[in-house]
Amino acid sequence: MSSTILVTGGAGYIGSHAVLSLKEKGYQVVILDNLVYGHRDLVEKQLKVELVVGDTCDASLLEQLFQTRDISAVMHFAAYAYVGESVENPAKYYHNNVVGTLTLLEAMQKAGVNKFVFSSTCATYGVPEIIPIPETHPQNPINPYGASKLMVERILKDFDTAYNLKSVIFRYFNAAGADPEGRTGEDHNPETHLIPLILLTALGKRKAIKIFGRDYPTRDGTCIRDYIHVTDLAQAHVLGLEYLLQGGNSEIFNLGNGNGFTVQEMIATAKAVTGKEFAVEDAQRRPGDPPTLIGSSDKAKQILGWTPQYDELNQILSHAWQWHQKRHG
Ligand code: UDP
Repeated sequence: MSSTILVTGGAGYIGSHAVLSLKEKGYQVVILDNLVYGHRDLVEKQLKVELVVGDTCDASLLEQLFQTRDISAVMHFAAYAYVGESVENPAKYYHNNVVGTLTLLEAMQKAGVNKFVFSSTCATYGVPEIIPIPETHPQNPINPYGASKLMVERILKDFDTAYNLKSVIFRYFNAAGADPEGRTGEDHNPETHLIPLILLTALGKRKAIKIFGRDYPTRDGTCIRDYIHVTDLAQAHVLGLEYLLQGGNSEIFNLGNGNGFTVQEMIATAKAVTGKEFAVEDAQRRPGDPPTLIGSSDKAKQILGWTPQYDELNQILSHAWQWHQKRHG
């Protein structure tokens, strides 16, 4: 297979796993990443594909990239993804996530590339009315991050109608875990996500893990989330890409595990997996957190033939633990 796939944000958490899955299927990959949050060392030592350092807002760089490579499709992961920051600095989010994506889509249009796999999010749904959430659920995002992703979804719909740009949109639930072979994993700075914070606490890098609210209407009062293994997410992206390369029409899919776990259950399982005892503190609710988010991924299973391989919480946490020990131990 000689197709080259442009992966934006390929030096980041989910993008780096997608690069590994693409390589395993024989695709050529070129990464475009501005390295604001991505990691050069991961690309050079583990992914071993070409890295172009630059921004999706840079139209001339994009034009040159498409002119000089035989790119048949784009997987677009590059985005800012801190919900809290998006509330404080929406301009940063709309600029990078919306303007950057629009610039990329216009460069694709100029180059005649019309296949696009897009990282969207369950944050586009806002506070759910139905659990598990189907793709047809109303979209009312409650923060600029979710709104920026929803705007791109709308642009993709209009670009399909007007310019025949075919896209697969994946709305992720909580990406978790790490490459089972330990080649890449989650490494955010600053870190705000539950699992890495728990594991950094288990490693003794942080004093305690805080539980953000114990008074939610859930089985133990803490928030429920749907944690999906990042390698399963990555494999769904390859299936989505192949669906488009085979002439598939634009589609939208949720990607989740279909199972929800509370914050307290996550901490208890992490203690069992790591064999470490660590301090847990109660804290205030974090603004913008819905009590329960669980997705239905039946559509991805039916249409793409996606079968998650790592749907056990123990596996997700032990792969993440293996990575954190190697990266931060
Ligand atoms: N959470 C927590 N303590 C932390 C970080 C997160 O209790 O230090 C909770 C958070 O309120 C949410 C869940 O863990 O209910 C997952 O949060 P995360 O930031 O990992 O993902 P999100 O659901 O916000 O995308």
